[in-house]
Amino acid sequence: MVSVERARYLMGTPCAVVVVHRDSAAALEAVTSALDEIDRLEDVMSSWREDSELARLNRSAAAGPVVCSTELAAVLDSGLVLARLTAGAFDPTVGPLVDAWDLRGQGRVPSVVEVAAALACVGWSGLDFDREARTVRFARPGMSVDLGGVGKGFALDRAAATLARLGSPSALINLGGELFALGERHTVTVAHPAARLTPVVELEVGDACVSTSGQSERGFSVRGVRYGHVIDPRTGRPVATAASVTVVCRSAARADALATALLVMGRERAAGFVRAHPEVGALWLEPAGSGVRAWNWNLSTVRAVPGAQVRWMERREWATHTLEKGNR
Ligand code: AMP
Ligand code: MG
Repeated sequence: MVSVERARYLMGTPCAVVVVHRDSAAALEAVTSALDEIDRLEDVMSSWREDSELARLNRSAAAGPVVCSTELAAVLDSGLVLARLTAGAFDPTVGPLVDAWDLRGQGRVPSVVEVAAALACVGWSGLDFDREARTVRFARPGMSVDLGGVGKGFALDRAAATLARLGSPSALINLGGELFALGERHTVTVAHPAARLTPVVELEVGDACVSTSGQSERGFSVRGVRYGHVIDPRTGRPVATAASVTVVCRSAARADALATALLVMGRERAAGFVRAHPEVGALWLEPAGSGVRAWNWNLSTVRAVPGAQVRWMERREWATHTLEKGNR
C-alpha cells in the first residue's frame, strides 16, 4: 500500500487529500480528481467571487426565476432541507446580514436600523425553489443566498464520492479543518474553542465527516467585543458565545450545516436536537477559566463512530479538565 498526499488552496482555505491505495498512479489520479472536483464546485457556489454561478443568481433571482446547474440546485436543496430540519437556525438566506456585518471584509457593527432592514430580507421560506425545474426566485427584493455554512461540506461529499468511484479504500480529505474520513479508522483532533491551533480532544472516526463551528476561526473585534461569523437569523446578530461545536455524521454537508445551526441554537437546544437525532454525534466545548468543559452527545453510539474513542489529548495542561459523558 502506498500513501499519496496533495494539497491545494481551495474555497479560501488549504485543502489536503491523502489516499492509501495499492497502486501509486491510481492514488495520484484519485487525489487529483478529488481536488479538481472541489475546485469546480468553488466556481459554482462561492460567495467571494463576482463571477460564480451563485453570485449571478443573487444578482438576478429577485427579478424572476433563474435556472441553476444541477450542482447549485443540489446544494440549495441541501441548504433548504437543513433549514427545515433546524427550524431556521441554519438559514441559507442570511446573505443580507453577512453583508450588513461585512463578514466578507473587515467586519463592522451595523446600526439597529440596518440590522432590521437586512433581517427583513432574510428567511428561507422566501426562497422559491423548484427542485424539478431547478429554478430559484426570491420572494422579496434584497434577498441573497449565502452557502458559507454548507458549501465546504457539500464539496467534501462530492470529492469523497469521486474518491470512492475511483476505488480508494482509505482516504482523508481535510478542507480547512472540515473532514471526510473514508474507510478505516482515522484519528482527528478538535481544537480548543478559543485557540484553533491548540488541539484538545481526539476522536476516532471511520467513514464519517467531522465539522466544527466556533468563534475562533474567523470574526472581528470592535472596542474589545468579539464578533463571530455565525449569525442568529432570529436576532440578525452574530451568536454571542465562546463555545465551539463539532458534529460527526455520515454526510459532510449535514455535518457542516448542523455545526453552524447547533452553535446558533446554544447548548441547551443543541443537546435536545442531537438527542432527537441519533445519527448525529456532537462535541460541545466551552472555555472555562484556564481550561475547557466538554459535552459529548451521542459520540459513543453514532454509527459513524463505531465504538468511538473520545479522549483528551495527552497533555498535562488538559489532564485536570472534565470530559463529561452522556446526553447532557
Ligand atoms: P461555518 O463556519 O460552517 O459555521 O459557517 C459560517 C458561515 O456560514 C458564515 O461565514 C456565513 O457565510 C454563513 N452563515 C452565518 N450564519 C449562518 C446561519 N445561521 N445559517 C447559515 N449560514 C450561516
Ligand atoms: Mg458549518
